[in-house]
Amino acid sequence: MKSIILHHVGFNHSFYTVNNYHKKKWHFRSKLGWYIGYQWFIDTSGKLFQGRREDEEGAHKKGWNTKSIGICLRGNLQITKPTNQQLKTLQKLLDDIKLRWDIDKIYAHSDLSATLCPGQHLMSFIEKYRQKPIKEPIEKSKGRLAAQLETIRKILLALKLKIQKYLKNL
Ligand SMILES: [Zn+2]
Repeated sequence: MKSIILHHVGFNHSFYTVNNYHKKKWHFRSKLGWYIGYQWFIDTSGKLFQGRREDEEGAHKKGWNTKSIGICLRGNLQITKPTNQQLKTLQKLLDDIKLRWDIDKIYAHSDLSATLCPGQHLMSFIEKYRQKPIKEPIEKSKGRLAAQLETIRKILLALKLKIQKYLKNL
């Protein structure tokens, strides 16, 4: 998957209600047995539900379903603010997915379609989150450190040779 797309339900509907609605609408069963079009759903309490595997096709944005991971928050976030618990779960989930998939593109549904989804109150969070520097996986930063040490070692070695040459000529 190459990107993440964020949604809100638009209503105060639970995971199960949205699942039933999508079942009637498309009957597109996920490998996990659910019908909800999103890979992830975050309830008002912050509880996280997985509706689809991250590597399987979703049903949340036409033309993007095979290349994006859909995350949906309960509520109408155009009218009400997401709860702190929801944002906490979302932040953790985004950090986690970005690392696992090496994704840097996080879209709001409204970036791709003429829609209010995922609502102005989530947009402010998304804009702030996008400013955040990407945390590097430990293995990657270890590799970079090793490369930097190797460069320093080479510089010192060259310096040592220069000094030895200089001493010989004294
Ligand atoms: Zn949406």
